[in-house]
Amino acid sequence: MKLIISDYNRKKITEILKIYREIRKASEVFEKENHVFCPEGCGFCCNSTEVDGTILGALPLAHFLLKISDNKTINSILEKLNDLDERSPCFFFRKDSDIDWKGRCSVYKYRLLVCRLFGFYRRKDKHGKYITGTCRILKNNYHSFDSKNCIAPGIADFSTRFTSIGSDSETKLIPINLAIKNAIEYLQFDMMKEALKRQ
Ligand code: SF4
Repeated sequence: MKLIISDYNRKKITEILKIYREIRKASEVFEKENHVFCPEGCGFCCNSTEVDGTILGALPLAHFLLKISDNKTINSILEKLNDLDERSPCFFFRKDSDIDWKGRCSVYKYRLLVCRLFGFYRRKDKHGKYITGTCRILKNNYHSFDSKNCIAPGIADFSTRFTSIGSDSETKLIPINLAIKNAIEYLQFDMMKEALKRQ
């Protein structure tokens, strides 16, 4: 589909993708230095019914989906997202086997901010000191992991930068499937406005 969006949203998506690249680099450094890796084929976090995302975090994915899909396909994706229970696991998670937590993201390159910080992240504890948090699987797999001395990508740092890019409603945490659906509709509306301007 020919995708014409406003300069405002194009710049926003460029900025988000820049932050995503920085998180990837920080995660790679952390993994290498601490020898902490997500187990092969693990989709435990994606298969959760508790994943919240933001419209802003889903904009690169929405942009990608609109770019590669015709109207029929995008309407069908919107319908399916709409039909899901509010607390369903992410629509884009594909199970690999009968084991619930085995699987993969079908849109990995465009996954949301939250998805990039599932495994490990730096946050402040109640005393204001930085600690590294990990998902349950990593915690169980790495018993000797010293969370106090490892510096993982910081949730707060990236979230603050994120918040500065978007409006309150775009940065509000909502169930992930709703965030993706709203992001697609947001860009569709933007495209419509751009098309009207150019008439
Ligand atoms: S977008 Fe991908 S990584 Fe994020 S929850 Fe969905 S399946 Fe998992």
